[in-house]
Order: sequence, then structure tokens, then C-alpha cells
Amino acid sequence: MQFRDLGLQYAALKSEIDSGINAVIESHSFILGKQVSELEEQLAEFVGVKHCISCASGTDALILPLMAWDIKAGDAVFVPDFTFFATANCAMLRGATPVLVDIDPQTFNISCDALETAITKTIADEKLRPRVIIPVDLFGQPAEHRRIQEIADKYKLMILEDGAQGFGGSISGQRACSFGNAAATSFFPAKPLGCYGDGGAVFTNDALLNEQLRSLRVSGASIVSKYDNISIGLNSRLDTLQAAILLPKLKALRDYELDAVNDAARLYTALLKEFVVTPNIKNDYYSCWSQYTILLENEAVRDGLKEHLKNQNIPSMIYYPMGLHQQKALISTNTEDTQFPNTDRITKRCLALPMHPYLNKNDIKLITGEIIRYLHV
Ligand SMILES: *Cc1c(COP(=O)(O)O)cnc(C)c1O
Repeated sequence: MQFRDLGLQYAALKSEIDSGINAVIESHSFILGKQVSELEEQLAEFVGVKHCISCASGTDALILPLMAWDIKAGDAVFVPDFTFFATANCAMLRGATPVLVDIDPQTFNISCDALETAITKTIADEKLRPRVIIPVDLFGQPAEHRRIQEIADKYKLMILEDGAQGFGGSISGQRACSFGNAAATSFFPAKPLGCYGDGGAVFTNDALLNEQLRSLRVSGASIVSKYDNISIGLNSRLDTLQAAILLPKLKALRDYELDAVNDAARLYTALLKEFVVTPNIKNDYYSCWSQYTILLENEAVRDGLKEHLKNQNIPSMIYYPMGLHQQKALISTNTEDTQFPNTDRITKRCLALPMHPYLNKNDIKLITGEIIRYLHV
């Protein structure tokens, strides 16, 4: 059994993926070929925004809008403490300071109360200029974007949604990657929509930002004259080959994969809810289930269960074993008295189970049976 079985997906989509790859090779149009613009159009339409700008990774998709907004030293960027490192790394690369915020213990997403506290404290301290909030759609459930938008409006901050794990999720039908001033996603192979290498995209309704990003991803070249550079940028494009791979994968995601992961999650929850804390999806929220994460009673039970599953050849993962506030690269930026009680508890108790659209019912029964067996001995 695999944690995320990309082989089964390839078997299902082999003919479209192979012919897509071959068409690119025969066209020799490897950089910004027509499949890239076709994919960008389809992605923007699916998400429900005006512009999609593809790039070389999810990390770059976070960095590029921060470059366009001139986020720099002295700026505060508010990020949840419980996330993949890239969410804070992008701010650090700009020389800005990530201000870490504790999470909601139910959803694991940024806590809106803690966010507002962090913002008012940063204003009162007068050391940093509050500029951007980066809410993360962790494990596939969108962050509380409506409330975050109210907070951003109140304090005049920008929002960059980190939808690397959220692509395909929604709130009352509004899709992830459409919230805030811009959103970033990742096409890393294990993400809800993954390519066969690195890739990412930015989404926005802002026409000026769209133009800036299209320039910044080609080293700041002017769109009208390639050799007349207008700003300092990156070389960050999505390969045409990756776009060709993503086109049939996006179709599968919208046609049946999102339904399939939601079916798998429902079955997991039905079988496990009496025994462990199962994921809590808020009313009117729809998850794309990039992870199915349960909470065990404590660290010893969690670690023991992980070992038990491993002995039965069932993979599981600890996302994440520590908060950003515990990571060496960030300790110096957060020397204050800030506490992260929710991340501290959840990092010790969380365990992510195998999850993907091709996971079958028997596998889920086997996995949950082993979990229940372990908890009862
Ligand atoms: C994966 C991920 C990223 C970074 O994406 P890459 O494509 O690996 O650069 C950023 N944020 C979150 C929350 C992620 O899970």
C-alpha cells in the first residue's frame, strides 16, 4: 500500500498523459508552449478568478506576489505556525519577518483570534510594518477566508492565500485559490493536483498584478520587449511538458477525483470516529483532502500506532512533527514571549493516513481495522 498512489492514477490516465507528453516533444515548444496558456485558462476558470500565472514551484508562487508588492525588510508577514516551511520561507527570502500565529485546534488552520492579537501586538510594538497575511488551506480545508478578509480590511493588510494543499476545496461553493488579493498553489507530485516534477501557479483578479507576475517570472522582462527589462525577477516558468501532464489530471480532478477523496474521507470517519479524533470540516466547507489527519490521545499512542501500522506495511506520516516556532531558521525571528499551545499539542498527536482518489474501500477497512486493533490492546 502507498501513502499517495501516483501509479494507480497514471494507470487510469496513461493514454492522455503519454500522448500529451509526446505532442510537446514533437512540437519542440518546451517553454511557455500553448499547453501552458491552455492550462492557465482552465485553472482560472475552475478556480473562478480572472488570471492564473503558472510558475516553477509553489514556493515561487508565494514569492512572486511578495516581490510584486515590494515586501521587504521591516515588513511583518503573518503566517500560521503549523504549516509547511515554505509559507514562512517566502517572507524570509524577501528579508521580511514572518510573525507566527497559533492555530485553531479544530481545523488546524490559522486562528483568527490569535491572528488579530498578533496584528495588534505588532502595531503596538512599532518595530515592524504589518503588510501581509498568508492563510494556509491546511490538509485541504480552506482557512476561514471570510473572517480573515474582514481582519485584513480592518488593518489594511494584503492577503496571499497559500492554497498549495487546498486546490479543489471550497467555502459555500467559492473555490480555494480565489480568496484574498492573490493565491498560490503547488503542483508538487503529492499535492491534490500534482505534475511530474516541480510546478506552481498564482491566481488573482488583479489585472496589474497579473501583468507584474508575467514579467517577474521571466526575470522582469517587459511583456512588449523581451530584452528591455523593467524589474528584477526570477526565472520561474512551468514547463510545457508539465502543463501537458496537468491538463488530463485537472480533468480527472474535477470529473471524479474530488468526489473520490471525499467518499474515502467519509468512510474513514464513519469507521474511526468512536476511537480517535477525526478531521473536523466546518459547515459549508469542502475539503480536497490533501491529507486525512487523525489525532491520538498523546505522543506515545501516536508513535506506537505509527510503528504498528508500519509493521503491517501501512504507511502513515507525521505532518508536521514541529511548529515553525521550533525550527532553527525561524527561532531568531520569534524570540518574543509568544506561545503556541495548539500547535504544540497537535504536533504531538497528529497522524496522517493514506489518502488519494484511488484508495479503495478494502484498504480503508484494513487500515481502520488495524488502528482499532492497536488501540484496544
Ligand atoms: C508544498 C507546499 C508549499 C510549497 O510548494 P512547492 O511546490 O513544494 O514549492 C507551500 N505551502 C504549503 C502549505 C505546502 O504544502
